[in-house]
Amino acid sequence: MNARVRPSRPRRPAGVRRWLKPFVAPDVFDFWASRVNRLWSWERPLAQLVERRPESRDAVTLLLRPNRHWSGFKPGQHLNLGIEVDGARVTRSYSLSQPPREDGLLAVTVKAMPGGKVSPRLFDTVEVGDIFELGPAFGDMTLPRAPRGAWLFLAAGSGITPLMAMVRALAADGMPVPLTLVYWSRHRDEFCFVEELRALAARHPAFQLRLVLTGEAAADADESEGRISDALLSGLVDGLGERQVMACGPGGFVEAAQALLANRVQGFQAEAFTLPAAPVVDEGEVALTLSRSGRTLMVSRGQPILAALEAQGIKPASGCRMGLCNTCACGQSSGSVRHLPSGALVHEPSQALKLCIHGAATDLSIDL
Ligand SMILES: Cc1cc2nc3c(=O)[nH]c(=O)nc-3n(C[C@H](O)[C@H](O)[C@H](O)COP(=O)(O)OP(=O)(O)OC[C@H]3O[C@@H](n4cnc5c(N)ncnc54)[C@H](O)[C@@H]3O)c2cc1C
Repeated sequence: MNARVRPSRPRRPAGVRRWLKPFVAPDVFDFWASRVNRLWSWERPLAQLVERRPESRDAVTLLLRPNRHWSGFKPGQHLNLGIEVDGARVTRSYSLSQPPREDGLLAVTVKAMPGGKVSPRLFDTVEVGDIFELGPAFGDMTLPRAPRGAWLFLAAGSGITPLMAMVRALAADGMPVPLTLVYWSRHRDEFCFVEELRALAARHPAFQLRLVLTGEAAADADESEGRISDALLSGLVDGLGERQVMACGPGGFVEAAQALLANRVQGFQAEAFTLPAAPVVDEGEVALTLSRSGRTLMVSRGQPILAALEAQGIKPASGCRMGLCNTCACGQSSGSVRHLPSGALVHEPSQALKLCIHGAATDLSIDL
């Protein structure tokens, strides 16, 4: 492991910017500055890909050098990464898979989703030297400054990434608390970081690793089989009721973990990378008015407003598509919306409607 925990880098004073401010527009500065150094920008956090490391059959770790506008992160947090796809800027969220490093590089580990827009490109098309746009780090699933008690991390698929950053941070501190990581994957060759995790388990008696397969038979001593269930967890984890739990993975996995554990452990925090499948409760179309541009579109009721806009060629700024990062939030002056994860109807106007997790329930006017 080459990551060491260190405090976030302080931001350097913007001396040149202060001097140039009266004379140059930020866009013009960016245009010319990027011809000298592709990481230079007036105020936009950018990062350059400096290394690609294969991590499993379908995942890669990208090491990125951020410019000075990047303001740091805590292990367990995510960032939004913007790349150009077919001439348009597309953003997705990725967790930092290593804690802050001495050399300031950022590590994200991306699992290629077949048919996805961004992850297959990050997995096999982007090249060392490519530039990405970054959003600020976000996410509350982080460790306390001085963790106490016994911990349990539950990871499924790419949900290992924020938990891996925290495992690495705890290992760098000498593993001060008992920690069990249960990590699910369909196939063995889809597990990431396995060699390192096994080495950490051998080095730190307080750290226990359980690998769980759902698509093939267990073979090694630290492997088991089966989907998340009461029986499986009770067999794999000592003192379940005494644990602080963090769970991360697809929406369905996180929901199942929460249903099994939330009321019987010391603490339960979770982050889902996808929304659980929501039943369609609204049908038909409604008129969506974009008050700034003066356009009105017909959109399907109950479809996320962000997806409905994108389907009609309108691309508002967006990030996690999960209601976490607030990038797509915009004002809503009239109409009712449905909060899709809970199914709740909301009738009041909002100054910050999250377009990615709300569907239009009636005719609606938003501040776009
Ligand atoms: C907070 C957070 C942190 C995350 N961290 C990580 C991480 O560390 N590592 C990681 O790998 N991922 C992470 N993700 C997931 C990541 O943001 C992306 O969702 C993921 O990479 C897929 O993006 P994509 O553009 O490739 O797929 P998308 O284009 O968004 O598609 C998603 C899925 O839908 C399917 N799909 C797309 N279009 C259609 C269609 N028309 N019909 C049917 N199916 C379709 C695709 O096949 C794909 O499987 C995180 C997500 C969140 C919210």
